[in-house]
Amino acid sequence: MAKINIIPIFVPHLGCPNDCVFCNQKRITGVSNFDINNVLKTIEDHLSYFSPLSPREIAFYGGSFTAIEEDLQKELLSIAKSYKDRGLVDGIRLSTRPDCIDDHVLTYLKGYGVDTIELGIQSTNEKVLNLSKRGHDRSSIFYASKLIKEAGFKLGLQQMLGLPGDSQEYSIETCKEIIGLKPDFVRIYPTLVIKNTELEHMYLNGTYKPLTLDEAVDLASKLIMLYENSNIEIIRVGLQATENLKFDKDVVAGPLHDAFRELCESKKLYMVLKAAKLDIRENENISLYSNARNNALLVGQRGSNKENLKKLFKTDKIKFKVDNTLADQIKIIAEKTYLVDIKENIKKIVKGW
Ligand code: SF4
Repeated sequence: MAKINIIPIFVPHLGCPNDCVFCNQKRITGVSNFDINNVLKTIEDHLSYFSPLSPREIAFYGGSFTAIEEDLQKELLSIAKSYKDRGLVDGIRLSTRPDCIDDHVLTYLKGYGVDTIELGIQSTNEKVLNLSKRGHDRSSIFYASKLIKEAGFKLGLQQMLGLPGDSQEYSIETCKEIIGLKPDFVRIYPTLVIKNTELEHMYLNGTYKPLTLDEAVDLASKLIMLYENSNIEIIRVGLQATENLKFDKDVVAGPLHDAFRELCESKKLYMVLKAAKLDIRENENISLYSNARNNALLVGQRGSNKENLKKLFKTDKIKFKVDNTLADQIKIIAEKTYLVDIKENIKKIVKGW
């Protein structure tokens, strides 16, 4: 499928009735003042440099769109609709909270041509929702997701890792419940401690401990395997880098890394090779063949995964070679030759979770 070019309109915290402990939307989106007059300019600017041949969507991100005053929502949606009606964009998407969805809302979103609704659900665990001050219970998540699917929208669900009270067990349980909701796609975000949030106070007074980078990568790679095994598209893992999303700017603590997804995908391939239980002797010469993308992941960021694989196979003599005929497989030539099927091994790994 051709890559969709997104025209992002950030509606930072506009109308959101809540203050989740981790949220400072003004900082996360990098926009502190919203001006509706800039919306047209943002759309026109993006359209001027997108190829007319690739699909384009207007996306209202950053806050809880359907919690904004209804008149303003409709004003924003009518701008987006006018572009869709003229064939200048192909779709409209927005993100919101589960408790800001009902039949009335879905009816007018349909009328304005909205195609995709993303729900920030973060966790399905009641304790985690409470401690994160999400302001709704788990039943809202199931109710809103069902309504959205029944009304014929594309459904996206966002899951967060490492929230207050969270654990690996709860995250895996949330992931399985999300899979049960049959979303069209998901996003996975590790929790970061952002300046001027309640979570920052909790971190500073010792009542909240963020995941380390290793813990977050380990857990996110497991969720990636669970979602992939259920054929659910994962459109993002980790927050998108912005000017302020840095340790010396707005991020106080947490598993922030520019290439977070790559770290997780590398870990996934490490786990696949581990699960394959290859019969390789100590100090053997090994050549790992895979396509270009998997080759880069097998080597890992600054060779980190290569070091892990050396430990796994108990040898320093590993070579990484590109063979683009291998789509979902890794060929290992050692004393014997092995063909490791990535999907089959993922199926094996997640079976026990
Ligand atoms: S619902 Fe979303 S926008 Fe509102 S406080 Fe929570 S994370 Fe922020």
